[in-house]
Amino acid sequence: MTTAHAAGSVPVMLDLRAHRRVPASADGYVELWQRLEPVLLGVDPRSGPRIRLDFGDEGEVGVWFLSPATAPVPFSADTPFSVRGVLEPPRVRYPCDTCRAAGATVYAPFLCAGCGTKERPGRVCDAHAVFLDGGLRASCARHVPVCDCGRPARAWCGGPRCRSGRAWCEQHLRPHPGDSSVLYCADCHTDRFPACERQGCQATGHIRCEHRLLGDSRACGRRVCAEHVTRWQIYGSRSRGLALCGRHQGVLRGSAPEDLVALIVAGTAARSETRRGPRTGGRRAAFLPRLGIVRHIFINTCNRVLDMGTVDGLFVGLQQDLRRRGKGGGHLVETALRLLDEQAAARREDVQRFRDSHEEGRGHFARLRTLLQQSGRHELADAVTFSDYRRKSNILFVRVPPELRSRFIGTQGAVVKELRTRLGINIQLERE
Ligand SMILES: [Zn+2]
Ligand SMILES: [Zn+2]
Ligand SMILES: [Zn+2]
Ligand SMILES: [Zn+2]
Ligand SMILES: [Zn+2]
Ligand SMILES: [Zn+2]
Repeated sequence: MTTAHAAGSVPVMLDLRAHRRVPASADGYVELWQRLEPVLLGVDPRSGPRIRLDFGDEGEVGVWFLSPATAPVPFSADTPFSVRGVLEPPRVRYPCDTCRAAGATVYAPFLCAGCGTKERPGRVCDAHAVFLDGGLRASCARHVPVCDCGRPARAWCGGPRCRSGRAWCEQHLRPHPGDSSVLYCADCHTDRFPACERQGCQATGHIRCEHRLLGDSRACGRRVCAEHVTRWQIYGSRSRGLALCGRHQGVLRGSAPEDLVALIVAGTAARSETRRGPRTGGRRAAFLPRLGIVRHIFINTCNRVLDMGTVDGLFVGLQQDLRRRGKGGGHLVETALRLLDEQAAARREDVQRFRDSHEEGRGHFARLRTLLQQSGRHELADAVTFSDYRRKSNILFVRVPPELRSRFIGTQGAVVKELRTRLGINIQLERE
C-alpha cells in the first residue's frame, strides 16, 4: 500500500536520473511504482539508505530511504510507502535527433535542416555534427550537403555567386591562388580570379577592357592582367588611361579620328557613370581630355596631325549627332552629352590659345625654313613641315621625312643645335 503522507509510512525518494523512460504523467508514475514495489519488498533498508534497481534497457531506478532507522523489518505487502520526491534527469530542451533515434537524449547545440520537420527545426549534438570547410553551418552525417554532381560536398563556396550558400565536392572545387585552404566552385573561381586574355599568361586578369561604343550596352570587358593591359593615356600621363585588351589596342591604330573621338567620349561617359555609382563614393569625377591631349592622341595613335579647330570640330560633330539621337540613345548618350557640354568652354579656350600660339609658331617655322635655305639645305627646307608649337615650353614641333631625319639632326646633333641657337627656341621632331 502506498499513500502520499500516511502516518507510519516509509518515506522514500525516487532517483530517476539514470532512467531512460521517465514517466510523463501521473498514470505513468503509478505504473512505474507497481513494477517497483514487489522488488522493494525484498530489500532491507538497514543495509544502506540508497539502493539502485536495474531495469535493463530502461536504465536504473534509485530508491532513497529517508528514515531507514524507523522502517519496519522486513517490509511486507502491507507496509505503506510514501514517495516524498522524485529526482528527474535534467530536461533537454533541444535534443539531438541522431541520438534520439538511438534512444538517448543529448543536448544538441546545432541545427540540422535535414532532420527538421514543419513544426520544429532539426537538431544535432557536438558528437554528431558535421561541418564543411568555408562555413559554420552544421548538419548530421546523413544530411551532409550534396554537390550538384551528387557526391557529398566537401566545402561551402564563399564566392560571389554562392555566398557560402552552396557546397561542392572535391572534384568541383578550386583553390584560391594564394591560399589553398580557401575553396571556390568553378564559376565563382572564374569570376574572382579570371584568366588573363593573353594566351599562356598565368596571372589573374583583374582589369576589364573598357572599350565601348556609344551604342553598346556594355564595355568589351575582356579580362587582362596588369602586365598585359594597354593603358590608352587619353587623360594625360598622370591619370590612368582607358584599359584595353589586346584586340582593341590593335583596333585603335587603324581607326579614323572621328572614331577615336567617339571612343574617348564613350569610355569617359562609362567611367563617369561607374564613379557616380554608390560603390565608388568620393572618387574624382571623370572629365573629357583637353584638346591638346586629343590632338597628340591622333598623332601617336593614327599618325594624323590635325589643327585644333579640326579636333574641336570632331567633338562638335559628335555632339550634334548625339543630340539628334536624343533620349532614344540611352543613358550613356545622355551622360556623353552632359560631358560634352561641360567640356565646351575648355575646348573654346584650347582652340583660341592654339590659334594664338600657332601664329607665333608659324612665324618661328618660317624663320626656320629661311635659315635652312640660307645654309644651302634646300631639300630639307622643302621637306620639313610644321606640326605644333608650345608657347609655354617654347618648343617647335616639326615633321621631317624619315630619310632626311639624320641630315636634319646633323652629326652629333650639330645642325639642329645650330638652328635652336639661332632661333632661340627648342626644336623637336615628331615621332613618326
Ligand atoms: Zn547526437
Ligand atoms: Zn540531419
Ligand atoms: Zn561558387
Ligand atoms: Zn561535385
Ligand atoms: Zn597576362
Ligand atoms: Zn576589349
